[in-house]
Amino acid sequence: EFGCGSSEEKSSDLVVYKNQEAPIEDRVRDLLGRMTLEEKVYQLNQVAFGKHMTANNIGGEMAKVSPLIGSIIYVNQDPNLRNDLQKKAMEKSRLGIPIIFANDIIHGFKTIYPISLAQACSWNPELVEQACAMAAKESKVSGIDWTFSPMVDVARDPRWGRVAEGYGEDPYTNAVFSKASVKGYQGNDLADENSIAACLKHYVGYGASEGGQDYIYTEISKQTLWDTYLPSFEAGVNAGAATVMSGFNDISGVPASANYYTLTEILKEKWEMDGFVVSDWNSVKQLINQGVAGSDKEATLKAINAGVDMDMADRLYLDHISDLVKENKVSINRVDDAVSRVLKLKFQLGLFDKPYVPIIRENNRYLLPEYISTAEKLAEETMVLLKNSDNILPLDNKVSSLAVLGPMAKNQEDLLGSWSAYGDAKDVESIYKAIESEFVQSKIFYAQGCDFDGNDTSGYTEAINVARKAEVVVVCLGEKKSWSGENASRSTISLPKIQEDLLLKLSELGKPIVLLLSNGRPLDLSRLAPLSDGIIEMWQPGVIGGKPVAGILSGRINPSGKLAMTFPFSTGQIPIYYNMRKKARPTSGMYQDITKEPLYGFTHGLSYSNFKYGDLKSSKTNLRKDENLIIEIPVTNASNVDGADVVHWFVSDPVCSISRPNKELKFFEKKSIKAGKTEVFEFHLNPIRDLSFVDSSGNKILESGEYHISVDNKKIVINLLEE
Ligand code: BGC
Repeated sequence: EFGCGSSEEKSSDLVVYKNQEAPIEDRVRDLLGRMTLEEKVYQLNQVAFGKHMTANNIGGEMAKVSPLIGSIIYVNQDPNLRNDLQKKAMEKSRLGIPIIFANDIIHGFKTIYPISLAQACSWNPELVEQACAMAAKESKVSGIDWTFSPMVDVARDPRWGRVAEGYGEDPYTNAVFSKASVKGYQGNDLADENSIAACLKHYVGYGASEGGQDYIYTEISKQTLWDTYLPSFEAGVNAGAATVMSGFNDISGVPASANYYTLTEILKEKWEMDGFVVSDWNSVKQLINQGVAGSDKEATLKAINAGVDMDMADRLYLDHISDLVKENKVSINRVDDAVSRVLKLKFQLGLFDKPYVPIIRENNRYLLPEYISTAEKLAEETMVLLKNSDNILPLDNKVSSLAVLGPMAKNQEDLLGSWSAYGDAKDVESIYKAIESEFVQSKIFYAQGCDFDGNDTSGYTEAINVARKAEVVVVCLGEKKSWSGENASRSTISLPKIQEDLLLKLSELGKPIVLLLSNGRPLDLSRLAPLSDGIIEMWQPGVIGGKPVAGILSGRINPSGKLAMTFPFSTGQIPIYYNMRKKARPTSGMYQDITKEPLYGFTHGLSYSNFKYGDLKSSKTNLRKDENLIIEIPVTNASNVDGADVVHWFVSDPVCSISRPNKELKFFEKKSIKAGKTEVFEFHLNPIRDLSFVDSSGNKILESGEYHISVDNKKIVINLLEE
């Protein structure tokens, strides 16, 4: 019933753009040639629909959406509604150009996976790719063609709420997960029935937001831009990301959504990105707030000429581009280029040929067993055992009794994390429930103790009484999901006093204390850590909820997560990240009143196995610039517990013409290692890729001399020869 042109028509009878056999470039060119300026301008706009919509007002809203519109964001999870809107575009517009439907599928659609920051702590990009592929499949059957993910903003200030959405503090780590998630969402072919288009965001430098505030300026030197903020985007572009979103921040005075250098010179010219750029929500109009445009029209002019192809939400392109073209301020070539990019994606996704999504029964769409098991496996690998004094963990599962306390213990909603799309709290297993099922032989007591925030300490007494009865006290604390994500910065990253004091009171009982933390950012644990015998950072695990952490408590799961972002000693130590540049007096402290070490550094994470690192071995130590080298390290599991370890390979350059970071991650690999066995890990070093640095134009510079390659506290020195 649906489709453009009846099946009787032979492909040779069709106009080129409707001909499925014709190459996409030809179809785009043909269609563009038929379009009026007005039709073109519509393609460059995305409007919101449905986010706050009820069944009663849908009809009215629908009438307002022009069938010419390029894209719609937030059509709820209703494929019928989506098909209705699409039908309007296909049948009520002169040329029948399909709409592309977008939504924020950040860490799952209905099957919610752990937040991205947690995903990075798994150091398992294959598993992340698989989760993204499943999220794409689940989204696609609901009518979503395009997601605003991954966020690959390197972020070093945990006060910034959006650290939850990215992959931590390191450029290389962000690059690896950028590629993995793009491959997961997009598959091998965008036209595949399970693929959706990815969007790298927020281009670029948004993570450098000053003081961790949101929607604020960033001050980034060109060298730092190239060295730190661009690589994750370049990796995503090379992986074929269909779109890129221009950010809210301004980069040293030039807003990211009006930045010709980053959008056109780097992204489209140097990297030859042939997809399109969408603005962030209202980021075109916000050029006025940022003080670089005096009117809506001027904002439009700056954004389109800088290289923003589609305007999200603020409708400025709709109102002003035609006039700007008529006034010769925006060239028709620029408009045609932008429109071609948008149309190209629509052809690539197969939207012209199959505009409608098939309607599948709800229980065959969501939360399928393979989705849940992937979510579970991923969550298991993301959790980080931060502290384990006297090997208090794992608990013997014959432990007679456990007190499970704290505001997170029976909470379901907040384990989902921010941007939890259509995730439903009732599908989430609470920590309490999971512990009950894990420790079937033990008595489990519960008390909430206190709320997440506030001053009401009236629940303390009950919690203390319950704790008195138990052999081990498990305290479940953390952040509500609204405390991280967009517009959710915090001035301090410790937990509210009401939660910290609960733990303090409980610790006075002298019983073993295990702290379970669920939060969307690194925390200041300066008060809590000394009071706890064991600490597990479970992040926001998504729909699987408490089961993985219960498994870590019992020893059913051996933790293998490692931090992708530093936990500072205290809030005042921010910014602190492993790859800070070398300083003039390395041995001097950071501040008089605290240690210069973070509480838990980048890649920290304990295991129930005992991994011993042998010496680094390399076939040679003098290397020509065009030679590659394999360096090896044996890792032995000197315990009787099977486990998995992640080997992180760092490079540092003791003398260089610019001051470089202390060390830089260049490669990582995770492997399972059976009890008593040894696995050899290899790093295939390529000098130009791994030893070079970038100048302020992005050129790679490789200097001869000494380089240190290290894993953990093992090091080998390589000498790079003159030509
Ligand atoms: C956020 C983006 C998001 C967009 C659409 C913006 O406010 O910054 O990350 O993709 O909204 O929901």
